[in-house]
Amino acid sequence: MKKIALFGATGSIGTSTLDVVSRYPSEYEVFALTAHSRVEMLADLCVKHHPKIVLITDPAKEGALRQALADRHLTNIEVWSGEAKMAELAALPEVDITVLAIVGAAGLTPTFAAAKAGKRLLLANKESVVCGGALLMQSIKENGAELLPVDSEHNAIFQCLSGANAKDRSEARLILTASGGPFRRRMDLTNVTPEEACAHPNWSMGRKISVDSATLMNKGLEVIEASWLFGFGPDQIDVVVHPQSLIHSMVQYADGSIIAQLGSPDMRTPIAYSLGWPNRLDGHAERVDFTKFANVSFEAPDLKRFPQLAYAYETLRSKDAASIVLNAANEIAVEAFLNRQIGFLDIAKTCRTMLDRMVRPLPTSLEDVLELDREARILTLEELAR
Ligand code: NAD
Ligand code: MG
Repeated sequence: MKKIALFGATGSIGTSTLDVVSRYPSEYEVFALTAHSRVEMLADLCVKHHPKIVLITDPAKEGALRQALADRHLTNIEVWSGEAKMAELAALPEVDITVLAIVGAAGLTPTFAAAKAGKRLLLANKESVVCGGALLMQSIKENGAELLPVDSEHNAIFQCLSGANAKDRSEARLILTASGGPFRRRMDLTNVTPEEACAHPNWSMGRKISVDSATLMNKGLEVIEASWLFGFGPDQIDVVVHPQSLIHSMVQYADGSIIAQLGSPDMRTPIAYSLGWPNRLDGHAERVDFTKFANVSFEAPDLKRFPQLAYAYETLRSKDAASIVLNAANEIAVEAFLNRQIGFLDIAKTCRTMLDRMVRPLPTSLEDVLELDREARILTLEELAR
């Protein structure tokens, strides 16, 4: 029995993970679940998956969680609270697999703790790779941890690179596919509402990543993520818009051959792959019926309307910690947009301003990363208040 600690259990990736895990009850045990604030939903997940430990990161919700568990006659579950406890949970010796499904840089602490403890990391939280960069990759290597990318593009590339020797790999190019989001065909983005931005054409996801998909920041974060995960520079990574989301990403080798991974747009496939690797598990995603695709199309991303994708490449080329600033500015701006405090186009403007404004020395520790992230958030909030 492999014991799983699932960080961000109440989210889109969290619930998909539990769906996959529950199909293999003799192989995996849900050992711990975390959530930030959705107490009732977390308690309901405890009824179904009976973890040994449950952690609510917002400490103000601990009492409500205890009550919600008592209401459901769940008396044997340990209740933990507070963000600081995430590192302790990720490193517990009982835990075999950590699933990192928290949204945003809040995922940094458990991700680094799981790496340091040498766990298998099923990593969906792309922001921790974007911010942790070289430090995270180094920690994974030094501590013998195993990183399996859950993000569908990176999971696809992981599959497409498997079996390639070092030389072929070094000469290859990565081709990340992007759906283009809900505004691929909308020229004027001035009055976009949060509801429109969150209505993704192909994928059902949390609100923050949905907005990131609408601005193409998501693809930008994924370019940075791919660069760190696979050791490819910005000039070896391309993005192509492919609205049908049938191909999840590709690798082009030096002979021009392209290996692609295809499937229906369902995160249970990459989750199941990462969970079972090197064996394949069935995530029960719908099977692709090729006869239903009248056309499969490709186009270049529009960097004029969606400049955040270009900013991501710029941060990779800058070779300092610009990606931490970009990520923090984006997180704050997306939240302000979702709260109707700023417009859709202000998200990219805010990112631009903060990239131009902030000095960003390379971090030498997780504490440095967290400090720069904190500073960038404060300055972005000040900028937005102006
Ligand atoms: P979501 O908003 O649905 O869920 C987020 C989870 O994080 C929730 O369980 C919430 O309780 C927890 N959380 C939020 N703030 C927190 C905080 N400050 N501290 C601790 N926990 C906190 O998000 P999602 O769509 O499931 O995405 C999760 C991560 O996976 C993101 O990094 C996203 O980019 C990545 N991802 C998601 C998808 C997808 O299809 N949803 C695909 C690829 C990658
Ligand atoms: Mg993705």
